[in-house]
Amino acid sequence: MEIERIFEIVEEENIRFIRLQFTDINGSLKNVEIPVNDLKRAFEKGIMFDGSSIEGFVRINESDMYLRPDPSTFAILPWTLEGQKSARLICDIYRPNGEPFEGDPRYRLKLVMEEASGLGFVPHAGPEVEFFLLPKKNGKVSYEFLDEGGYFDLLPVDIAEHLRSEVAVMIEEMGIDVEATHHEVAPSQHEVDFRYADALNSADAVQTVKLVIKTLAIKNNLHATFMPKPFFGVNGSGMHVHLSLLSKDGSSNGFYDEKTGDISENMRYFVGGVLKHARAITAVTNPTVNSYKRLVPGYEAPVNVAWSLGNRSALIRVPMARGMGTRLEYRAPDPSCNPYLAFAVLVAAGLDGVKNKIQPPEPVEKNIYSMNEEEREGLGITTLPKTLEEALIEAEKDPLIKEVLGDHIYEKFMELKWKEWKSYSIYVTEWERKKYENV
Ligand code: GLN
Ligand code: MG
Ligand code: MG
Ligand code: MG
Repeated sequence: MEIERIFEIVEEENIRFIRLQFTDINGSLKNVEIPVNDLKRAFEKGIMFDGSSIEGFVRINESDMYLRPDPSTFAILPWTLEGQKSARLICDIYRPNGEPFEGDPRYRLKLVMEEASGLGFVPHAGPEVEFFLLPKKNGKVSYEFLDEGGYFDLLPVDIAEHLRSEVAVMIEEMGIDVEATHHEVAPSQHEVDFRYADALNSADAVQTVKLVIKTLAIKNNLHATFMPKPFFGVNGSGMHVHLSLLSKDGSSNGFYDEKTGDISENMRYFVGGVLKHARAITAVTNPTVNSYKRLVPGYEAPVNVAWSLGNRSALIRVPMARGMGTRLEYRAPDPSCNPYLAFAVLVAAGLDGVKNKIQPPEPVEKNIYSMNEEEREGLGITTLPKTLEEALIEAEKDPLIKEVLGDHIYEKFMELKWKEWKSYSIYVTEWERKKYENV
């Protein structure tokens, strides 16, 4: 959007405050509110903030950072605060010397987009965001289902239905094309899908959609959790990502070969690259201790590193659509990831395949879960990491991760994640007490 147009809208809509948003390493959305009087300065020079208090940003002695709003992200927030309308702008982060801050996740994704552009492509991503809606009791989140017998008396079933359609309306109002919203397999679980867009816009959209869902949940005295596996024994929440490489003018799809009417060589190489790096990129696409409780057999989440033309037990599925809709679905990510970093490592892994012509193994059409280990080994099928620890070790072994995240984020990410793993591994759980209290 033109900056002049933004000022007109601000005037017309009587907006007094602007929220400047950005995302930290963990994927948490942050925001600083400024009065509209400062908006001009924000576009021209950026707004200074203290980077040392943001997770993983900078040390105290070099903490001045600048937020520069990206005008294309202007959107009016579809809810009011104290009856007052406000708008948001997603920002890029700059150092005082005017250079982009190398630790800004959005910048890392932009660098990968540039690399793709050098090869003639614009990476597109279409995520499917799953989450649970949970009730609150005395202000605390309660781990009970909202829409299963027994709890109907607490809250009528249609609260969640109503909330879901409200989510759809609000994200449409914020400029995101909704494809579908639906109840997911598990009780109390829902999904919001929006139309694919270039990977940067799509990562922005994930952050917006999560914010809208969380806000609406709060307004309904509920809690929306994007935790990958909040309940033992039922499906977890994933964030499948559909990926394709479109031409720069958007008129053709690099994953489609018009001559054969089938997937292109480049798509095969892209798959080859993603499979090659799959174990390492899991640390970024599934970055929490809890992520690995989802990646187990039996709950529609992937476990095996393989690709398939239909079967959903594989990590990569190629849906039937051809032509512009030719794409792959990467099924590992979960919504606890930082979408900028997750898309960055995924696309970079695929591009590595394209650049180096990495041939993928044959697609696997048999149900992988029903194979024994020998059969799997024969087909070259490995498994995704089983714990955050295993994923971090894989990420340390694969130079692609450090390259894509850049030294700054890489060091910080590893430090944070190892700390998280260590704190979990010494924690004593209910499971252990039950299991061992009589030994
Ligand atoms: N919730 C499942 C997962 O963890 C996916 C279910 C589905 O969308 N078919 O990935
Ligand atoms: Mg879906
Ligand atoms: Mg789903
Ligand atoms: Mg899916």
